[in-house]
Amino acid sequence: MDDFELLIDLHRNGLRQGPGSDAATALALTIAGVDRTAPLAIADLGCGTGASALVLAELLNAQITAVDLFDAFLTVLAERAAERGVAEKISTLACSMDELPFAEASLDVIWSEGAIYNIGFENGVKNWRRFLKPGGLLVASEITWLTATRPADLQQHWEQEYPQIGPASAKMGQLEQHGYSPCGYFVLPTSCWLEDYYDPMQARFEGFLQRHSSSEAAQAIVSAEQHEIELYRTHQAHYGYGVYIARKTAE
Ligand code: SAH
Repeated sequence: MDDFELLIDLHRNGLRQGPGSDAATALALTIAGVDRTAPLAIADLGCGTGASALVLAELLNAQITAVDLFDAFLTVLAERAAERGVAEKISTLACSMDELPFAEASLDVIWSEGAIYNIGFENGVKNWRRFLKPGGLLVASEITWLTATRPADLQQHWEQEYPQIGPASAKMGQLEQHGYSPCGYFVLPTSCWLEDYYDPMQARFEGFLQRHSSSEAAQAIVSAEQHEIELYRTHQAHYGYGVYIARKTAE
C-alpha cells in the first residue's frame, strides 16, 4: 500500500477529514442568508466522506454534487447519504477540483471545507468563480493566521506545509481581487479541531496500526498526524480555520 492508500485507510472511517462541525456548517448557511426552501445547485469540493454535503442536503432544498479526488471517500459518502435519507439530493463525482466539468454560471453555491488548500486558496477562488451564477455564493474554510506575529517554529512548519497560509485580511483581499464580495467570516472554535476531528482520529490510530502490522509507513503517518495535533494544541492561539463567505460580483 502506498502512502496515499494508507492515508485514505486512516481517514475513510472518519465522519470528517478536517476540522469543522455540523453546527459550523449550519452557521455559515445562516450568516450567508441562504434561503432554505429555494431549489439550489451546489457543489461541495473536496467533500471527503460527506461531513458538509450531508448537512447541506438535510438543511436545504438542494441538488448537491459532492466532488472528491478519491472514490473510496465517495463510496462512504454515498452509503451515509442513503442511511440519512438524503441520497436523492446528492450525486458524487470523482474528479480533481482543478479540472471541474461544471458549465459556466451553473451553480448557486460552491462549498468547500478544509480542502481548497489542495490547489491553494487564491488559485481555487479564482478558478471556481466562473462556475457560479452572478450573485452566487462561495463558502470555503482555509487555514488562517489569527495573530500578526507568531513563534518561529510554527512559522517554519507552515511555511513548509502550506506557504500560502495568511491572515484573514489577506484572504479577504484575494476574494475582492478575484471578483467576490466578502459577506461573512468566522473562525472555527477549537472544539471543531479537537473534539470533532483530532480526538476521533487519534481513536483510530490503534486499529490503523494493527491493520498494517505497524509498518514503517503506517507509523510514519501516525507520527506526522501526532506532530500536527501537538502543534495545534500548543499554538492554537495563532492559527485556525477561517470560514470565508463571499458572493460573486457582477462583472
Ligand atoms: N470536506 C471534508 C474533507 C476535507 S479533507 C471535510 O471537511 O471533512 C480534504 C479532502 O480533499 C479529502 O477528502 C481529499 O481526498 C480531497 N482532495 C485532495 N486533493 C483533491 C483534489 N485535487 N481534488 C478534489 N479533492 C481533493
